[in-house]
Amino acid sequence: MRNLSAAELLTVWERTHGQLPMHQAMEVLAAAFPEHTFEQLAQLSIGQRDGLLLLLRERLFGTKLNSMAVCPQCQQRVELVFNTSDVKTQSHRIEADDTENTVMSLTMEGYEVNFRLPNSFDLMSIAACANTAQAQKQLLNQCIQSVSTASKNDAEPGNLGGNFQLPASLQEAIVKRMAESDPQANTQLALTCPDCNHNWSAAFDIVTYLMEEIHRWAKHMLREIHALARAYGWREADILAMAPTRRRAYLELLGLG
Ligand SMILES: [Zn+2]
Repeated sequence: MRNLSAAELLTVWERTHGQLPMHQAMEVLAAAFPEHTFEQLAQLSIGQRDGLLLLLRERLFGTKLNSMAVCPQCQQRVELVFNTSDVKTQSHRIEADDTENTVMSLTMEGYEVNFRLPNSFDLMSIAACANTAQAQKQLLNQCIQSVSTASKNDAEPGNLGGNFQLPASLQEAIVKRMAESDPQANTQLALTCPDCNHNWSAAFDIVTYLMEEIHRWAKHMLREIHALARAYGWREADILAMAPTRRRAYLELLGLG
C-alpha cells in the first residue's frame, strides 16, 4: 500500500464522482495498491476488500471513527465513537493466493457443492437486480462452482436446467459457511442506548462510510483551495502540495481558520 497524496485522492474522487460507492471504493483501492491490478482487487472476498479499506482509512484519516445510529426502542439518535480496531476481525495483508478464489466444499442432503466467496465483481453484477431475493439467488449461483449428486456427477450449475435449485437448507448452509469464512464482510457494532439502556447490534459498512468521508474531505479541500487561491493567487497544485497544518495557518491569517 502506498500513501495517496491530497492531489491523487482528489483526482480519484473527481473521476468516480456519481458512481456507486462500491465502484468508487475499488478505484480508491486500485490507486492505493498499484502493485495489484484492478481485477485482482475486485476478486478479493468482500471481507478482504473491507479489511484493506479499513487499513486505507487509517492511513488517510486515522483510526477514530464517528457515526450515528437510532435506538430501535426509543428512537433516540445515538452518536457513535469507535476505533478501527473495534471493527477489524482479522489482519489484512494481500497474499499472492488471496485472489485465486479459494474453493470450499460442503456435503449435505446427497449433494456435494463446491463454491467460492462472493467478491466485488459479484456485487457489481447483482447491483441491477430487481429485488433482494433475485440478487441473493444470482449471487449464490455465481459463487457455486460445481454440484455433484449421487445420481449425477460433476454437474455444472448452468447445465442443470433453469429450474434447478438446491434445497433451501443447503443454500442456507452455504451462506452460513461463507459468512463464517469471511467475517470481515459482515461487521457488527454492539450498541447500548444511553437513554433507555436498550442493547442492539448495527452493521458497519466501511465502503459507504469511507466514500462519504472522502466526499466530505474533497468538498472541504476545494473550499480551502478556493479561499487561498482567491486571496493569494496561488496555483491549485501548490496549495494541494502544502501540509494541512500550513494550509490551515494561512487560512487563520485570512480569518477563515
Ligand atoms: Zn433507546
